[in-house]
Amino acid sequence: MAQKRDYYEVLGVGKNATDDELKKAYRRLAKKYHPDANPDNKEEAEKKFKEVNEAYEVLSDKQKRQMYDQFGFDGPNFGGASGGQGGFYSSYSGFDGFGDFGDLGDIFSSFFGGGASRSRNSNAPRKGADLKINIEITFEEAYLGAEKEISITRNEKCKSCNGSGAKNGTSPETCPTCKGTGKIRQVISTPIGQMSTQKTCSTCSGTGKIIKEHCPECRGKGTVKKSAKLKFKIPEGIDDGRAIVLQGEGEPGTNGGTNGDLYIVVHIKKHNIYTRQGEHVFCEIPITFTGAALGTEIEVPMVDGNKEKYKIPEGTATGTRFVIKNKGFKAVNANWRGDFVFTVVVQVPKKLTAEQRKLLVELAKTMNEQPPIKKRGIFG
Ligand SMILES: [Zn+2]
Ligand SMILES: [Zn+2]
Repeated sequence: MAQKRDYYEVLGVGKNATDDELKKAYRRLAKKYHPDANPDNKEEAEKKFKEVNEAYEVLSDKQKRQMYDQFGFDGPNFGGASGGQGGFYSSYSGFDGFGDFGDLGDIFSSFFGGGASRSRNSNAPRKGADLKINIEITFEEAYLGAEKEISITRNEKCKSCNGSGAKNGTSPETCPTCKGTGKIRQVISTPIGQMSTQKTCSTCSGTGKIIKEHCPECRGKGTVKKSAKLKFKIPEGIDDGRAIVLQGEGEPGTNGGTNGDLYIVVHIKKHNIYTRQGEHVFCEIPITFTGAALGTEIEVPMVDGNKEKYKIPEGTATGTRFVIKNKGFKAVNANWRGDFVFTVVVQVPKKLTAEQRKLLVELAKTMNEQPPIKKRGIFG
């Protein structure tokens, strides 16, 4: 693929451009490069127009923009490499395509037929729908990473008719209304001026074809519902609400378009002991009051199941925080870890043996404390 121009550069805006600035830049350029406005240079204009369209589609979508800022064209939404399992990692917040940009998306794609992947009304290749599922994993699985298998039910291309929807031995016929184009031309008004555009042919619903004898397997739909088992990896350190993207595992495309993607949104179960903030792990560790006073060595239970020896210095107050460096979550797509932070909670015994009580009374005396009245706890 040819080197792509930076999206911000394409729209001629800065990296911090607001939504409004983006929209303005987009409208200005869309007008400028509109093929109808460039009759002598249609091809070049169309290329520019598509480039502008693509840049705006990404930058006007908060999630996609974030991904682009972070990963450039290597992010899962870019680069055009499709098909196969990616195991990519991204945020998820719904995929509404053009957002408030609305119908304009349709207008542009109807102009260029095969160009835009979102054209709804032509017999051009069209990418299949993205699917979304949720999975729940444990805190430990998020920490260590995991391999998972899921079953999903989705539409797949009908093997019997190879997606055409026509009965074996027959093939779809060209639609007489639109002569196979799937479109009927019309002129409409849009926010960026009068545009000659095309409307979906109602005879064939934009497919350009009419099926006389339907495939019995899929009843003419070209797809059948199937359940599939998919294996995938949970990356080490994944955070709650993130999604794993399996490219090409969504619904089938039409007219030779690529499959949609499957977004697996990860939810992490609450843990009894640990909590998470960013890549750091937090927990409370109980220690004895003598250990707190005299100092002690404890074994701290780590998220991976190992125990870490840690020296608590003498005179440690309850609520004191200790940090074990680099034992928190691994940062996904980066080479560092958060820390393991524990807070000690000094335990005061509820019951004392006679011996312990005697010793403590002696201790108390040396500390110039009032010896306790019988039946009342020493520290209570
Ligand atoms: Zn079929
Ligand atoms: Zn038609």
